Amino acid sequence: MRIATIEVQGASRVVIVDEAGERYWDIADVVPGFAGDMLDLIKATPHPAQQLKPAGPGQPLAGARLKAPLNRLDRNLFLVGKNYHEHAKEFSGSGFDSSAQVVPSAPNVFTKPASTIVGPHDAIESHPAVTQQMDYEAELAVVIGKGGRGIRKEDAYAHVWGYTVVNDVTARDLQKQHGQWFLGKSLDTFCPMGPWIVTADAIDPANTRVQCWVNEELRQDANTADLIFDIPTLIATISAGIELKPGDVIVTGTPVGVGIGFKPPKFLKAGDVVRIAIENIGTIENRVR
Ligand code: MG
Repeated sequence: MRIATIEVQGASRVVIVDEAGERYWDIADVVPGFAGDMLDLIKATPHPAQQLKPAGPGQPLAGARLKAPLNRLDRNLFLVGKNYHEHAKEFSGSGFDSSAQVVPSAPNVFTKPASTIVGPHDAIESHPAVTQQMDYEAELAVVIGKGGRGIRKEDAYAHVWGYTVVNDVTARDLQKQHGQWFLGKSLDTFCPMGPWIVTADAIDPANTRVQCWVNEELRQDANTADLIFDIPTLIATISAGIELKPGDVIVTGTPVGVGIGFKPPKFLKAGDVVRIAIENIGTIENRVR
């Protein structure tokens, strides 16, 4: 099941979208009395695939604008760096990695604020006064449904509400210059997300294709099977001492093929179009402005 946030006649609505991507059902018609946003829905429906039952023909999606499915969070997104084997090698060899290990011995977790989130077709600002080395990172994002602390790996998938697509846009010069990654990851518009959240039953997150094109050139084409630390390990690691809450987002890392992996590097510039597709979720496409 696909659950999106759309804008119709200036108003935001949380909706279920059909498999063809052509029709939608307003959650307010599916859950009597519901008037909230996606974060409210996640908190109210821990098992959406079982609890949300659209009825009737729905309405045409054409004419509605897709927004980021989750554009309000209770706190920062959690993200994971250097989490694909081939990407860890390319990053270490790029000259932009300030850490010592090629393959990390434990997940490299950082955050970016929710203020970075933009929709699946919104512009990414190029921030020319701040960075000259902007890069893309195609990533599978996990949305937590059931919270908890000390979640065991074997129980981890029961805490997942769904999955979406994220571009972890990064200013490489800031990432390198400041040692700590927060500034380079957190510029406004640096987190395109969407086109919707698919519920946890919709994909096999351990075997899912992740692709990224820049101006129609295929740059990243990998499978989540190449992850160094899998989703249960990430959930167990973060929740060990931080209580995960419904609506938390864990962005799992990017595979090989980012701009700094090329010699010379291929940085993004104004006018470039970045398209990211994740199997059985969907596609986001954002132009650099
Ligand atoms: Mg990343």
